[in-house]
Amino acid sequence: MASASSSPKSLLVQGYEVVIGFETHAQLSTQSKIFSRASTAFGAEPNTQACAVDLALPGTLPVMNKGAVERAIEFGLAIGAHIAPRSIFARKNYFYPDLPKGYQISQFEIPVVQGGSVEFFLGEEKKSVRLVRAHLEEDAGKSLHEDFVGQSGIDLNRAGTPLLEIVTEPDMRSSAEAVAYAKELHKIVTWIGICDGNMQEGSFRCDANVSVRKPGEPLGTRREIKNLNSFKFMQQAIDFEVRWQIEQIEDGHAIQQATVLFNPDTGETRAMRTKEDAADYRYFPDPDLPPLCISEHWVQEVRAQMAELPRVMAQRFESQYGLGEYDATQLTQSLALSAYFEAAAKACGQPKLAGNWIMGEISRRLNAQDLAIDQAPVRPEGLGQLITRIADGTISNNAARQVFDALWDGSGSDVDTVIESKGLKQMNDTGALEKIVDDVIAANAKNVAEFKAGNEKALNALVGQIMKGSKGKANPQQVNELLRSKLGN
Ligand code: ADP
Ligand code: MG
Repeated sequence: MASASSSPKSLLVQGYEVVIGFETHAQLSTQSKIFSRASTAFGAEPNTQACAVDLALPGTLPVMNKGAVERAIEFGLAIGAHIAPRSIFARKNYFYPDLPKGYQISQFEIPVVQGGSVEFFLGEEKKSVRLVRAHLEEDAGKSLHEDFVGQSGIDLNRAGTPLLEIVTEPDMRSSAEAVAYAKELHKIVTWIGICDGNMQEGSFRCDANVSVRKPGEPLGTRREIKNLNSFKFMQQAIDFEVRWQIEQIEDGHAIQQATVLFNPDTGETRAMRTKEDAADYRYFPDPDLPPLCISEHWVQEVRAQMAELPRVMAQRFESQYGLGEYDATQLTQSLALSAYFEAAAKACGQPKLAGNWIMGEISRRLNAQDLAIDQAPVRPEGLGQLITRIADGTISNNAARQVFDALWDGSGSDVDTVIESKGLKQMNDTGALEKIVDDVIAANAKNVAEFKAGNEKALNALVGQIMKGSKGKANPQQVNELLRSKLGN
């Protein structure tokens, strides 16, 4: 468990400790709305997907969408939380043009998911961020300002879309840690399939609560940066906000609690409104909805249908394939990546090597070309075959890189064909190799003498000559052994 205590000095920004807590709205991947049968599909004509229930017209009653509850249960199970056997829907009252009901149905005092934690690596350091809660609620509509001159339009299609609001403790201590948390959370919700994770379409929106304090002092006043919809903006926004708050404090101003927006064009955050307190919303239990009751049996049913979780899979990778925790975590960054790894490991029986290739060469190229693992031109079977050919001594590591290049750029069709056509086979015929070794020994009397006199480095010079003489096809290990035995060492 992470603690909210002071972090190491190295993390301080101009002598201040940064404190961050996240509220994330994950849009649940149901076909219909949280309390009605209207569609949740993205991109429809404005106001074609909001029904009378979504608008709370008189005479309508909301009915809980079972699929939304199941997704909340899945999330709770994925992060090791308590699933409340009985939770309550509440009305959060406020006025806004995109909320014609005048209230949002949410959960307040008793949320469906309580506690739990999200674990991830920040570099090589393991982190754990505690969750306070995750609650079900409905989304509001959307104001449209673009297509209207001097006026705004309202699109209510999004009203009633199911959301899971996921709230952390103020456990994060840097923008980098906040981004790593958000990426891990994104991974979890998309892995278990409760959210499509599309940040541009607003399916995964993060609010970052940021404050600063001198180490050892109580928590400072926070400002909440709303609706961060890219990891890049998230980092920029928090960094700007931290600098701004420190500057204010250093200039003798107190921080006012506020809701702020990040402007990607200027890279700055700006106050949108002062922050309401919970009391301003006049929360009360929604009289139209009974308590949400979840039996242990239902939880077990949901659990039984869930695929292996990333955490569990990483542990399996450690025990089944003998990987370290860090590698196992890296290889379970997405379902697609883990599947790629397992297929490659199976194809060659060398999981450790397969993992190294995937985390090294392959991920470097994917990043450089902005490709997903599914789009990697080298398929796991090909990688497996390549590793097999290294392991059985057919090719050297150097030659393997050339084969890999050819497979990746499409100039080679399969591993053995490329090895053949490029003549990359290692020289495993000792007869031919011995001849080269003898020639090199004869032609380099000086190095030989030096080596015999105890200079180990002189051997490297000889190995180099032999590798050159074999056009790189000799096995360096074998060359080394041959040389030593011939030079009587
Ligand atoms: P609200 O109900 O106003 O949204 P909460 O107490 O639920 O406020 O906190 C919202 C988020 O703000 C949580 O993620 C919490 O961890 C974070 N938070 C609370 N206090 C601070 C603080 N001083 N600095 C940074 N984050 C904070
Ligand atoms: Mg809140």
